Amino acid sequence: MEKRAELYRGKAKTVYATDDASRLILHFRNDTSAFDGQKIEQLDRKGMINNKFNHFIMSKLAEAGIPTQVEALLSDNDSLVKKLDMIPVECVVRNLAAGSLVRRLGVEEGRELTPPTFEFFLKNDALHDPMVNESHIKTFGWATEAQIARMKELTYKVNDVLKALFDKAGLLLVDYKLEFGLFNGEITLGDEITPDGCRLWDKETRKKLDKDRFRQGLGGVVEAYEEVAQRLGMSL
Ligand code: ADP
Ligand code: UDP
Repeated sequence: MEKRAELYRGKAKTVYATDDASRLILHFRNDTSAFDGQKIEQLDRKGMINNKFNHFIMSKLAEAGIPTQVEALLSDNDSLVKKLDMIPVECVVRNLAAGSLVRRLGVEEGRELTPPTFEFFLKNDALHDPMVNESHIKTFGWATEAQIARMKELTYKVNDVLKALFDKAGLLLVDYKLEFGLFNGEITLGDEITPDGCRLWDKETRKKLDKDRFRQGLGGVVEAYEEVAQRLGMSL
């Protein structure tokens, strides 16, 4: 399947049409952004790593019975996916406190969250992705009650699958962000699951192996992503 018209250029990926109206190609770029796109850098190999990482993780989730966008890994930086009608909210589950939760609630970074927390954010950079609740989502028509329930159910199921997968690789899944869309009316997992959109810490040392290395200027960003991939047994 070949790339046709460029439909959308986001902060990290470019979306292309294909000859099949129900399929898209996601092209993963090296661009790495933080703080709503205020900090941007090109990190060599990042696009390739994230493309392969995302395909690997989404394939594991599909095997576990989660409906995902995954169709095929086309090349180093390109994946063929189902074209979803995206729901403009982000679903975030946290197992350990970090990032905006720490800033918002003043809890200690690394505190275990039992049960894990669930948050919705509106996907809107101009408004800095504000937190929203189910009432907002229903009132503004971003999703129905049943679709909200399904997104929550699937997001928690992803937590069970990924926590176990990362645990075996000596990693803690601190938190992650998912985006869903509709494919033939069914809530389906889209976008990406990569170290750009989740937090992963070494189980023993709690060394950060995710995009916080970029946000916090810790260096070794791509090396950390590669380490995670290698620990998962992926070939790059
Ligand atoms: P952003 O839009 O946040 O800058 P990206 O650079 O990752 O993010 O752009 C990818 C865009 O493609 C996002 O808007 C995302 O919602 C959308 N998208 C991801 N997966 C799919 C899919 N399977 N079908 C349709 N749109 C998708
Ligand atoms: N996240 C993301 N995209 C966003 C906002 C958050 O991928 O637009 C991810 C982020 O990488 C982390 C989780 O969602 O794994 C929770 O992010 P948080 O609310 O702590 O915000 P942050 O401080 O990372 O901006």
